[in-house]
This record gives sequence, structure tokens and C-alpha cells, in this order.
Amino acid sequence: MIIVTKLSQAFMHLLYPHICAGCGHELHNEETQLCLQCLHEMPHTGFDKLPGNPVEKIFWGRLPLTAAMAGYYFTKGSVMQQLMHQLKYKGNKDLGIQLGRMLGHQLAESGRIMADALIPLPLYPAREKKRGYNQATLICHGMADILQLPVFDKAVTRPHHTTTQTRKKRIERWDNIEGKFLVTQPDVLQHKKLLLVDDVVTTGATLEACGAAILGAGNVSLSIACLCMASH
Ligand SMILES: [Zn+2]
Repeated sequence: MIIVTKLSQAFMHLLYPHICAGCGHELHNEETQLCLQCLHEMPHTGFDKLPGNPVEKIFWGRLPLTAAMAGYYFTKGSVMQQLMHQLKYKGNKDLGIQLGRMLGHQLAESGRIMADALIPLPLYPAREKKRGYNQATLICHGMADILQLPVFDKAVTRPHHTTTQTRKKRIERWDNIEGKFLVTQPDVLQHKKLLLVDDVVTTGATLEACGAAILGAGNVSLSIACLCMASH
């Protein structure tokens, strides 16, 4: 019986290798997704505690936010780059939830960004279908575990851009692609402090467009939290 159990454990191990998403080394039993070494090397920003931080500056003059932050720096060759690759292209959904928990802990400890609900930045439907999930929604669910907040993943949608747009001038097309978000459940958002969540912030153009749609929905306040910030 013990042999059978060990064999089945070994088999499960082949199916679901218990390895670190950052470095590929085998994990100890108490480790989840990331080994202690990679956790230690995660490039924290400290922005959660810092008014006027670089993520807030991205949106100054563009979007009236209550606060904004990103948990980690996204730099080439860092553990974070490897994790983002796993999250976006390797189907590692559990990693998304785990990273969301880590971001949730940062927000819970600093207490600077208060929210009533989390909104994941929507993907285009075709991309979400191809990937099988929206990584921002996974991050939200991890954050929700820690912060005990609802996730409004159907309140805002991102309609397909149509083929007629390819005939428009480049600048117009860019506007259309970045700018199309629809608040489909404005009643759900009313009178709430909302936290818009995405995996990476770079120029902030997409978050700005989505945030403007949310703020246009009525009597709400908005903050932004991203897993990481890339330089631009
Ligand atoms: Zn590792």
C-alpha cells in the first residue's frame, strides 16, 4: 500500500511537478509556487507606502486617482520577468493567485489604499478565450483572499475592435484600441471605492482608458494596483 501511494505520488509529481515558477528548482513542502530564494529576490517597490510614487506620477494630469501602486519592478532577467512569462504564456493560473495574495499582503500591511471592491482590467474576449483566463482576474482573486473584498469581473468589458478600424489612420486606430471599455454594470459600482487591477503598468494608456470609463460610470472613486511596473 505504501509503495502504491509512493508510486502515485511520483506519478502526480510527473504530471504536476512541484517546482519553483521563478528558478525551476524543486520546492520544499512548505513552499508554494516560489522557493524562499526567489521570494527573497522579488524586487519590491515599496510604493504601497509612498504617496507620489512613480505609478501615481504616470497618471498625474490624466486620471483623478485616489492612489496607485505597483508591488514589484519588472526588470529584464529578474525573477519577475520569469514569473510574468509563466503567468501569461505558460498557463500557470495558481501562480497568478499566489502573486495576487502577495500583492494583497502588501496592501493589507500598508493600509494606504482602501477599497470596497476589485476590478480586473479586462482582456479582449478573443485573447482571453485563447489564453483560457485573464491574468488580472487571477491576481484579483488572490488579493480578494487576503483583503476579503468582492471581485467585479463582469462590471467592465472590452469589446472587440472591428476590422473597419484597420482602414482608419494609425492614430485613430490606437485611440480606438486603447479607448474602448464599457461599464456594463454601473449600478454595481455606484458609491464605491474601486481598485482597478492589472499585471503590468508601462505607459498606463490602457489603465487610463479603463479607469476613465469606470469614473464615467458615476459616483465612484478609483485607485490602481498593479503587480509590477515596467520602465518605459
Ligand atoms: Zn526559485
